[in-house]
Amino acid sequence: MSALMWFRRDLRLADNPALLDAVAAGDGQVCGLFVLDPALWDAAGDPRRDHLISSLKRLRDAMDGKLVVRRGDPATVVPELATELGVESVHVAADFGPYGGRRDEAVEKALDCPLVATGSPYAVAPGRVLNGSGRSYQVFTPYFRAWLDHGWRQPADAPGKVEWIGKRSDALPEAADVEDAGEAAAREHWQDWLETVAAYDDERDRPDLDSTSRMSVPLKYGEIHPRTMLADLARLRSKGAEAYRRELAWREFCADLLARNPEAAWKPLRPEFEKMAYDEPGDDFTAWCEGRTGYPIVDAGMRQLAESGFMHNRVRMVVASFLVKDLHIHWKYGARWFMRRLRDGDLASNSLNWQWVAGCGADASPYFRIFNPTTQGKKFDPDGSYVRRWIPELAEVQGKAVHEPWLLDDDLGYPEPIVDHAEARQESLRRYDAIK
Ligand code: FAD
Repeated sequence: MSALMWFRRDLRLADNPALLDAVAAGDGQVCGLFVLDPALWDAAGDPRRDHLISSLKRLRDAMDGKLVVRRGDPATVVPELATELGVESVHVAADFGPYGGRRDEAVEKALDCPLVATGSPYAVAPGRVLNGSGRSYQVFTPYFRAWLDHGWRQPADAPGKVEWIGKRSDALPEAADVEDAGEAAAREHWQDWLETVAAYDDERDRPDLDSTSRMSVPLKYGEIHPRTMLADLARLRSKGAEAYRRELAWREFCADLLARNPEAAWKPLRPEFEKMAYDEPGDDFTAWCEGRTGYPIVDAGMRQLAESGFMHNRVRMVVASFLVKDLHIHWKYGARWFMRRLRDGDLASNSLNWQWVAGCGADASPYFRIFNPTTQGKKFDPDGSYVRRWIPELAEVQGKAVHEPWLLDDDLGYPEPIVDHAEARQESLRRYDAIK
């Protein structure tokens, strides 16, 4: 009797406990399924679609070409294939997202056999880290300490020999090939990057150095499990390795918050922010999306996003703050734009980080912390090379003068600032005072 393994955000064979369970249940015979669910596909932009399709191709290659891909509603597709195969169990890694939870309930109801969830995309599953009174944490630092105390399992073994069962499969949609997609590339990239982790603590805030790991993408698709990464980090003693582990915990904290508060995907966690006055997105929003605000660090970030599907974390914070606190536009519009454009677009990390910057999250930055885009640029891109890389109009401006192009005499063809930061800041604080 074979078993059915339904891959979702775990597009890998190694360190995949759900797959090991499927192999055990099927006595080595497993059918691997991926469902192209229109509800998720339609909401994703090209960067995520291209990566997903490329990653599925790599997974299919690793399964002797036998990955079954079917398009449709999982509540129909999964039970149909389970019946076709006559399996006694369907295996998945648990999904703690709001849509994933509802979808899995519907699939479970429609199945004639159990839907067995083993593991999750996290080292510690959402809901597991609790304080002394059995409650979950609202603030990151105590969560982080408890997360460390809770600990996690060692990486799971790769499955031994698997006899993959092939069935009718829909064609994968056309997509641009992403060379670095897939499990093998993720592991190789991680091992290469790990050699530089010692410098992470000092350099991670510097977009010009581009020295962060870029592991958010393989983590998003589950091409590698964080447990594998944490086991490697545990062998290292550097401050850089410690700082990196803390960032992985942020990812888990966001997932934990969203699992407990599914509405936080698009609604403020602090209810008083429901009353906050925002402006409707108009021309200013378009200028922000297109990287034409006249603030170089903001525009460089938005153009990096448009051209590469990625943006450095520090710059994500700066552009998010600019949208909410300089343009007074609700964070949900920015979060939606990010989800369309980011290759690592992940509902939990995205929405909770937007809420953090907007000041309305559970553990948010204080509202009065309003990033000054010029100061941020000078501090984190000190010689201006990040800005010059992404803004061709400013490519000839030397050094940090690039962060204040309005002081230069030449007409560079670069826009004037669309708002005055000092005035916009006062307006933001005034609106905040009205809801306090
Ligand atoms: P590194 O600095 O190398 O960090 C290592 C890993 O730690 C990352 O891959 C990521 O998994 C995790 N991590 C680091 N910082 C954070 C953080 N603040 N929150 C959660 N996890 C973190 N991350 C996403 O994966 N998807 C998103 O959609 C997303 N949207 C964001 C939106 C905003 C407004 C902000 C401020 C941050 C967002 N982040 C998001 C978090 C962070 O910016 C990215 O994880 C990081 O920039 C990815 O680059 P990296 O892998 O090189 O990071």
